[in-house]
Order: sequence, then C-alpha cells, then structure tokens
Amino acid sequence: MKEQENNNRRDFLKKAALAGAGFAVLSTSFGKNYSDVHSEISKMNLGIPEDNMFTLPLLPYGYDALEPYIDKQTMELHHDKHHQAYVDKLNKALAEAKISGVSLEDICKNVSKYSVAVRNNGGGHYNHSMFWKGMKPSSSTVLAPASPNEPAGKIGDAIKSSFDSFSNFKTKFAEKSLSVFGSGWAWLIINKDGKLEIGTTPNQDNPLMDVSELKGKPIIGLDVWEHAYYLKYQNKRADYVNSWWNIVNWEEAAKRFEK
Ligand code: MN
Repeated sequence: MKEQENNNRRDFLKKAALAGAGFAVLSTSFGKNYSDVHSEISKMNLGIPEDNMFTLPLLPYGYDALEPYIDKQTMELHHDKHHQAYVDKLNKALAEAKISGVSLEDICKNVSKYSVAVRNNGGGHYNHSMFWKGMKPSSSTVLAPASPNEPAGKIGDAIKSSFDSFSNFKTKFAEKSLSVFGSGWAWLIINKDGKLEIGTTPNQDNPLMDVSELKGKPIIGLDVWEHAYYLKYQNKRADYVNSWWNIVNWEEAAKRFEK
C-alpha cells in the first residue's frame, strides 16, 4: 500500500517535471520569494501589530542553514524559546500597562517612558528580529570554497574609510564584542554625526533607545549573550565572533545603511 502511494507520488512528480509544471507547483506551495518574506518580517515586527499582539517572525532560512558556524540546536532554542519568550513577555507587559497602537521602533525610541519589562522584552524582540535578518547561509561550500564574505558597494567603502580596512574593522568589532561584561550586544551604527561607529549595549538595550549611551541607527548587531553560542563554543566567545563573519548578511546591512 505504502509502496503504491510512493509510486504514485513519484509518477506525479515525474509528470509534473516533464510538463514543466514542477516549478509552478513549488512556487505556489512556497508562495513567496526571499525578499517578500523579508519585507513581511519587517512589517510584522517594526510596525504597529494589527491585533495589538507582536508575533515571532519566521526565520528567513532553516535552523541548520547557518551550520557549521551556528549549530541547529542553538538556532532552535534561540529562536523558538528565547525570542518567543521576549515576544510573549512584551505582549503581557503592554497588555498590563494598557498600551496599544505603538510600533516596536517607537517603543524603543521612547523606552524611558515604559516599564523595565517593556524595555527588556521590547529590546529583546527588536534585537533578535534584526539579528535573524542580519545573517544568511554561507555561500562557500566544499566544492566552491572561501569566497570571502565582505561588504561591497557604499557600505564597503564607508567601512574601509572609517576603519582603514575591513580587517581592521573586524578586529575592532571583535574587541568590543569581547568587552561586553555579562550579557549584551555589539553594534555597528550610524551615529548622530552620520559616522559609522562600533559600540555595545548591555542586556537587551539597543542604540535606538533613548536610555542608551550608544545612540544611532543599527547597521549590524551581534548577540553576545551566552545563549547565542554556549552549546557550540562554550566560554570561547572570540571563536563565535570569528565564525560569525562568515554568515553576516552584508546585503541586508547595505539596505539599512543606504536607507
Ligand atoms: Mn539572544
């Protein structure tokens, strides 16, 4: 019986492919292309949520897509458990304070007016939503190794002129990442003078927040909480940061930079 079903399915797939319908079948079932998914994620997270409930964005790639740099189990726990908890606690804190109709960006920008729970969980939701989009599967494989993952175009030029070289930029960014005591984030931002700047924020604060010492528009952000790397890297945060350069989504960073 099982065999029969498999055969039927195989026949169907073969016929569909022969008829040139294979692509049509696939594209309707997945529905959307990569950039549509991305822009939906932005709407879902940064805008005012329709029913006043923020929701966990889908990852724009599979849990194992960032292997070997970030392992599947870390991605599952980090996205499904940690990020989900920030979303749930943010919704709860907003409901308790009877706050509605505010976007996540506005919450961050005026965070001093809100409770600590809104600050921590709103920051957590914003930072992680940005973090997932800020990464992409590495393009280098065993067969086509090591095309270096470096920023091109305007952002590449700006990084080179601000930090002398891309390699110098990476060194400075890594130093900052390692300087975070306890939990926090490392960022590349555009500061109020329109200059690129590397800095850090504690806990789930971010550079949009009015309470933050580091202020500006985030271009890339790296989660240096232990939950982001401990399963694979244990206490070796430097190795995690070093690996992360392979999966930074510079196209996404360029969009943020040029907007
Ligand atoms: Mn995290």
